[in-house]
Amino acid sequence: MSAPAIQALPDLADPARCPRLVVKVGSALLVDGAGPRREWLAGLVAEIAAARGRGQQVIVVSSGAIALGARRLGLDKGGRGSLADAQAAAAVGQIALSGLWAELLGGHGLTAAQLLLTLEDLEDRRRYLNATATLTRLLDAGAVPVINENDSVATQEIRFGDNDRLAARVAQAAGAGAVLLLSDVDGLYDRHPDEPGATCLPLVRGITPEVRAMASSKSGSGMGSGGMASKLQAAEIAELAGIALAIANGHVAAPLGRALGEGVGTLFLPRRRHGARKAWLGGRLRLKGQLAIDAGAARALGAGASLLAAGITGVSGRFSRGDAVAVVGPDGSVLAHGLSEYDSSECAAIAGRQSSDHGGILGYAPRSAVLHRDQLVLL
Ligand code: GLU
Repeated sequence: MSAPAIQALPDLADPARCPRLVVKVGSALLVDGAGPRREWLAGLVAEIAAARGRGQQVIVVSSGAIALGARRLGLDKGGRGSLADAQAAAAVGQIALSGLWAELLGGHGLTAAQLLLTLEDLEDRRRYLNATATLTRLLDAGAVPVINENDSVATQEIRFGDNDRLAARVAQAAGAGAVLLLSDVDGLYDRHPDEPGATCLPLVRGITPEVRAMASSKSGSGMGSGGMASKLQAAEIAELAGIALAIANGHVAAPLGRALGEGVGTLFLPRRRHGARKAWLGGRLRLKGQLAIDAGAARALGAGASLLAAGITGVSGRFSRGDAVAVVGPDGSVLAHGLSEYDSSECAAIAGRQSSDHGGILGYAPRSAVLHRDQLVLL
């Protein structure tokens, strides 16, 4: 289950260290003034096919729908003048984009699978798990998922808006080991790349305020919506999820070879080794309730145990089985997030009671814990 850790860019190409890789391709790489950059994409697809041949599963997150559609519809500002323009452009461009990926992957005997996701698909647990199941099934069946945001229906409030963060969240959902963001910059520079003496950082351990200060929010091409700020946000999501993330320049004939073979780019090392699911749990999700626990249970959780009903001293909120709840220690601090095996009224009924009593109280065979340690993340 646990692969050797990723420590350097070439590790992203190693199926033993990174059995599943997400490759995000920025708009400026896919589209230029003359239309889709077909020859370049054919080169990348050949590299993806080679990775598959080595036994590595690859998920593609592809931008370019808005840029392609804007050309076809004759919309100005690359289709980004208004939300309505972007939505219309994406609806047109996505067909061409998927067609191109399907055709080029098909040339290597690979089957492309299109997934269009919105933010809510990955924030809502059930939908997140649905996306996980679909991705896993597709990969196991040998397909190459090609993912984009569903820009035509996602409104401002429910949009990622950039495929950098989408790629990091997809990597979480798919349990990928790493994300490679291919863009039109070499990586993260220690100051604005135009300033004299600017150096590209090969390795970043932890996204500190100093690292954030290095990022400029300006997108190099003006074609995508990313820029370094959204790449850093993606790196933060990945870091917390225990996923490595790399930024590399895709403007070369064999971008995977340059980034991963020659090791040119910036690698952000994962901070914790949580599984992707635990990172989802520990991170940005709305909690439905709280379980207060006693000191003994708090110690047991700290030692890696599940949360048993006997240690629960109070239940608040209304939640169903499977909902995310916070675990609060005797001093009122939030110790953990977990997915409850029981709904809130069942939790209240068995709180403080030994497991042997649960069957009698609930009227059915009890589960082994209220929060199983596999569904629990300590904060
Ligand atoms: N989803 C957008 C598109 O396909 C790209 C978003 C981005 O620029 O990152 O055009």
